Amino acid sequence: MDCIFCKIVKGEIPSKKVLENEKFLAFYDINPSAPVHILIIPKEHYENFSTTPSEIFCEISEFIKEVAKEVKVKDYRLITNNGKSAGQEIFHFHIHLLSNPNGKLKWPKLV
Ligand code: AMP
Repeated sequence: MDCIFCKIVKGEIPSKKVLENEKFLAFYDINPSAPVHILIIPKEHYENFSTTPSEIFCEISEFIKEVAKEVKVKDYRLITNNGKSAGQEIFHFHIHLLSNPNGKLKWPKLV
């Protein structure tokens, strides 16, 4: 399997971990778009949101709240790019958690 996030899960590629449990992993984005930019993934491989079972999506939402507590951010934005033309580059389902604890996140025009 060539998936880069699967390799991160297996420890074959290093990552700056924030939190993990049996099913999910959170680590810092290598190329942050905000002062806090964390990626949250299921350890099991699903291509993207469209192919992720709803139960996993439910469970990951609880994990995301734990991640936010762990890094002590109250206000944050969640994004998932679903498909190539939506900006998805890595085809292992992930949610971006973005925060600017000392200011406001911009809401840029996307096209
Ligand atoms: P997306 O465009 O939604 O697929 O997002 C992929 C994200 O993965 C981008 O924000 C990249 O900066 C990030 N990324 C790629 N490789 C790594 C890595 N080895 N460790 C952490 N983040 C990564």
